[in-house]
Amino acid sequence: MSSSVTLRSPRMSGTPPALTDFGRIVVKVGSSLLVDVEAGGVKEAWLASLVEDLAGLHRDGRDVLVVSSGAVALGRSLLRLPKGPLALEDSQAAAAIGQIALARIWAEALGRHGITAGQILVTLGDTEERRRYLNARSTIARLLDWRAVPVINENDTVATNEIRYGDNDRLGARVATMASADLLVLLSDIDGLYTAPPGIDPSATLIPVVERITPEIEAMAGDSASELSKGGMRTKIEAGKIATTGGTHMVIASGRIEHPLRAIAEGGRATWFLAAGNPVTSRKKWIAGSLEPKGTLTIDAGAVAALRRGKSLLPAGIVRIEGEFSRGDAVLVRGPDGFEIGRGLVAYDAADAERIRGHSSGDIAGILGTHGRTAMIHRDDLVLGQG
Ligand code: GLU
Repeated sequence: MSSSVTLRSPRMSGTPPALTDFGRIVVKVGSSLLVDVEAGGVKEAWLASLVEDLAGLHRDGRDVLVVSSGAVALGRSLLRLPKGPLALEDSQAAAAIGQIALARIWAEALGRHGITAGQILVTLGDTEERRRYLNARSTIARLLDWRAVPVINENDTVATNEIRYGDNDRLGARVATMASADLLVLLSDIDGLYTAPPGIDPSATLIPVVERITPEIEAMAGDSASELSKGGMRTKIEAGKIATTGGTHMVIASGRIEHPLRAIAEGGRATWFLAAGNPVTSRKKWIAGSLEPKGTLTIDAGAVAALRRGKSLLPAGIVRIEGEFSRGDAVLVRGPDGFEIGRGLVAYDAADAERIRGHSSGDIAGILGTHGRTAMIHRDDLVLGQG
């Protein structure tokens, strides 16, 4: 996929990038911004102002993608369902009614600016399985070649609790890295990441730029979610990890104002999460964004240092193995303090991994009776976070 806008490097220490630095932008819109539950329907004036901003970016030659929540919220408002949690079948059926309305609303709003919308509904398996991931990626690429704006949501009508993203923050991040976007904008009912949850701690201050997602940053996220949207700050930080390790910058900004993208462009309040400077291969982006790692490998400090020097993860450095995984599955790699330092595709199943854990690679054949791979995770199959 190519981009017609020339970028200057947005990675300047401590300085927030400008919206015009980016050539391919994914904008995630939360349910509570879009849907007026009391009045029943969509907040038309607000949507028109957002779409005007999107159309401006599109006119300047940028590729624009929208990840829109609101299927369930719109469906339940059209059906006038009572407040409170919905049973699975109810939310699936509400999404079926809401999604068709949502698609029409986006198509009409973009159409008023001469822009064609294309709807994509994805399930978790569409991004977790490499073949389907590549498929979805080429569809997006073709839509962008045609200058259409993909409007993406989870296929909530078939998603069940076990097999769903559940929140569109992580879905947005997954889509952004899949589409090789250079920026993900999360429009939400909060204008950024605060040093503490602002509703609880009045001395909390907004952090304008996060260069790396460290354990301290994670601790600031708290666990709040608004009534309509699924994603609290925690899922936004998870989204930030997926995006930034996949080479996509991310910005969280308030969508409670009209022209929310113009506000970001004018330097309004927001938190920017900067991506690593070095390019990430497409395969590594996919590994970095795996949402359902099947297990966890906890490693010692020496192994952490070796990985940071670009080495593969050897069995000798592994202190603990958790989870039921098969060879080739995605697993989390944690340091001695438990902090996630990366993700990778493991070369052994859980049982064999347990048997060779802590042993030098030369002993593998003796223990397993076959000559297996030297590394538990080869460096080509490993993506380190920035922490
Ligand atoms: N996919 C859900 C919907 O469209 C929204 C998930 C979220 O709010 O993050 O209703």
